[in-house]
Amino acid sequence: MSEIKDVLAKNSFRFNKRFGQNFITDTNLLDAIVTDAGINADDTVLEIGPGAGTLTSRLARAAKKVVAYEIDENLRPVLKEILADSPNAEVVFKDVCKVTDAEIESAVGRNYKLVANLPYYITTPVIMRFIECDNRPASITVMVQKEVGDRLVAAAGSAEYGAITAAVRLEGDAAITRIVPRRMFYPVPNVDSCVVTVTMHDRFSGEDKEKIKKLIRAAFAMRRKTLANNLSSAFSLSKEDAVNAITKAGFLATARGETLDVEDFVRLSKFI
Ligand code: SAM
Repeated sequence: MSEIKDVLAKNSFRFNKRFGQNFITDTNLLDAIVTDAGINADDTVLEIGPGAGTLTSRLARAAKKVVAYEIDENLRPVLKEILADSPNAEVVFKDVCKVTDAEIESAVGRNYKLVANLPYYITTPVIMRFIECDNRPASITVMVQKEVGDRLVAAAGSAEYGAITAAVRLEGDAAITRIVPRRMFYPVPNVDSCVVTVTMHDRFSGEDKEKIKKLIRAAFAMRRKTLANNLSSAFSLSKEDAVNAITKAGFLATARGETLDVEDFVRLSKFI
């Protein structure tokens, strides 16, 4: 911890709140994230937001290759110093949101794992992008705000369950591997975090995913409305046709979207 603070101070680094810069200071936690991510010696890792490079250097020790995208050019000298002994770690100074899928593929290939202590402002778009992209990673291990983690693993019908839960479950199995108190970061943020791993699966590979995703979005569009009402607006169906599809799929006409799990959405999609 003091080593990192020294390197940051020596390079006159100033934290930029805009980029969600809260660095992990606990070395045991850094090692634990590498373990949670299941990184092996033949793995290629895509990291988003290396910050001071403390997680990056540990990933590099465990993996064959690490490519990290960092938006903040001011971290260049810090990363150079921290990663001096990690020749298999490459940092690309770019906003990951502006990097194309093709560029990522040429950097990490088609078989890679994603690991990130994500800046909170891009958590959901980054998770959804990599879960749904053509060249998806084998697994995603991310530090996220505790509330986001709770949503990702929520049971159908619970208050935390939402469109993102079902959309993620369509592609992978999410689990919280550890809760991380806010004091583990520098500067200390005002929320607690957790590490979530999503292991991709192919259980629904033969299904019409675009239709299922549209259905999921529709089901949660207005939480107070019944599923039938939400479906009839999203799919331009009469209320009667929406109710027919719902009952044929085996659900009550009065069902609400938030009670359906992903398998239920897959089944319902076949009747619309
Ligand atoms: N990985 C480091 C750690 O665990 O200590 C830093 C994590 S910090 C929460 C998030 C990092 O993501 C910061 O270094 C920030 O500059 C970077 N970042 C923020 N937005 C980004 C973006 N759009 N593309 C790439 N990096 C980004």
